[in-house]
Amino acid sequence: MIATQAKDFDELLETLAAAESIYIVGCGDCATVLQTGGEYEVEEMKGKLEEAGKTVTGTIVPDVTCQVLDIKRLLRGEKEAIEAADALLVMACGAGLQAVAEIVEDKLVYAALDTTFAADKFRGGEFYEWCSLCGECIADQYGGICPVTRCPKGQLNGPCGGSDKGKCEVDPDKDCVWALIYERLEKVGDKAEIEARIAEPKDYEKSTTPREYVFEPRRG
Ligand code: SF4
Ligand code: SF4
Repeated sequence: MIATQAKDFDELLETLAAAESIYIVGCGDCATVLQTGGEYEVEEMKGKLEEAGKTVTGTIVPDVTCQVLDIKRLLRGEKEAIEAADALLVMACGAGLQAVAEIVEDKLVYAALDTTFAADKFRGGEFYEWCSLCGECIADQYGGICPVTRCPKGQLNGPCGGSDKGKCEVDPDKDCVWALIYERLEKVGDKAEIEARIAEPKDYEKSTTPREYVFEPRRG
């Protein structure tokens, strides 16, 4: 899922200074799980904006805000409330925000959240960045643990000289990912292979943005 974090409310208010009336769009998917843009947070934001003297003309929490055509249909039903607003405030990731901007062409669209990373979720409020969407997955060459993302230096041959007792020199509270890689490869009996291999530099051409997939769906 896409991880998001709420912007500082006072800074957000400064950004919204010119907008007296606001329509709020949340997201029923990732931002709901992250508790940054679900029903509860949208209501909370509405209350805080009203307390700060703003008029909230309406709110909506689509199931998935980055589904452009779905939210186009939903926002059509909100035409009056959107027209009454000076601006829209989006409590979704940057993909959701741009979907809203694509549809509501004549209003300013503001981000209430910062979009941070593709997240693996553990229990409760634990989310970790294990994949940085590089476009060509090589994690299988490292026992299913990605050094591109989980090593701050992206070391494809490791560990670096700063690894200390299995901890990372960049953040000693974190495991050196190369310690994890070796541990895992030992368990699956593939350690000798990685010890003998020197990885070539990775081709990052596939991560050139903007990327797109346009295809004829075979189903649905
Ligand atoms: S190599 Fe790492 S960053 Fe690239 S796709 Fe695989 S897990 Fe993601
Ligand atoms: S200590 Fe390990 S995880 Fe940290 S930068 Fe060096 S190789 Fe990467």
